[in-house]
Amino acid sequence: MATVALRGLTRRYPGAERPALAGLDLDIADGELLVVVGPSGCGKSTALRLVAGLDVPDGGQVLIDGKDVVHTPPQDRDVAMVFQGYALYPHLTAREIMAFPLKMRGMPRAEQKKVVDEAATMLGIGHLLARRPGELSGGERQRVAMGRAIVRKPKAFLFDEPLSNLDAALRAELRVDLGALVRRLGTTSLYVTHDQVEAMTLGDRVAVMKDGVLQQVGPPRQIYEDPTNVFVAGFLGSPRINLVEVTRDGDRLRAAGVDVAAPPGMDVPAKAIVGLRPENLAIHPADAAPTPLPASTSLLAARVTAAEPLGAETILHLDAGGTPLVARAPGFARWSAGDAVQVAAVVSTALWFEAGSGERVRA
Ligand code: ADP
Repeated sequence: MATVALRGLTRRYPGAERPALAGLDLDIADGELLVVVGPSGCGKSTALRLVAGLDVPDGGQVLIDGKDVVHTPPQDRDVAMVFQGYALYPHLTAREIMAFPLKMRGMPRAEQKKVVDEAATMLGIGHLLARRPGELSGGERQRVAMGRAIVRKPKAFLFDEPLSNLDAALRAELRVDLGALVRRLGTTSLYVTHDQVEAMTLGDRVAVMKDGVLQQVGPPRQIYEDPTNVFVAGFLGSPRINLVEVTRDGDRLRAAGVDVAAPPGMDVPAKAIVGLRPENLAIHPADAAPTPLPASTSLLAARVTAAEPLGAETILHLDAGGTPLVARAPGFARWSAGDAVQVAAVVSTALWFEAGSGERVRA
């Protein structure tokens, strides 16, 4: 049981123009699974390495249970790291690999066996313990790597993109299992990924980073529904939120092919970005608009440029008079490339941003 807190954590690599990490403040509660997400190069791994003790910050603190461990060697921090494509000793069996940290600690053999068996059962690899890494699939190897972290019963787990080397089906399966396992163990966890699906599904809270700077931290739903700026809005959600730069003209907001009413009670700036999630655009035939038109809905004429039927839904790529839009329609939609349609945009669900700064504008 432990808390982890980062205070003003800063790291500037020699010769770099800007710090890889610029004053990061984060609190991970006891037993919480916090996911740090952001594009490649945003400083996620740097933050994790500083918590693990594999690197030393230029400034700031890493507090584990309130104690600054910045100058504590990694082996004395009592944290366990799980990497992508974890390097497992090829000549050892899964059992020997998992028992290794216990052996180093001088734990009696009988107790080692008990702890490893317990972890292996939890991970569903009890029947694989006699195999060497070469005889295991990628997903099984990753479970052994997790097992090696679990048996240590550390204060915190540090996950560095642990699923990124697996194929899609295995990644999805292991994602669910890993989330359930971490919750069952109740171990404080910091999980770093560039994958927004992992962030949305695994995190008790999600911290979104860009260029070494924390953008927003909160529960996944809050980050999705109430993003603080245009970057966060664009990072979570697939297909990506439609972001259209519009110019204000009285109470209308316009872009090429787009003309929507300004939301009442909101001071939309002269240059704004309107964000409309693909699920908030409904597609209608060109000649039959819905009547009556629901309140705060604007109709836009558009042409389908591509349709991607995925089974449960169809992703529709649209050209609304020069403005590209993406919508999702349930099931196998009747539309295909070239069709003229009308897009009903529910403007009340739109997110508004200041065009220059990208900051959110609220009612
Ligand atoms: P992420 O994990 O989000 O992809 P990193 O923390 O690895 O990002 O890197 C953040 C920034 O620091 C990047 O611009 C990267 O090129 C740079 N960087 C990372 N490690 C080093 C290093 N050892 N030396 C110099 N620059 C580095």
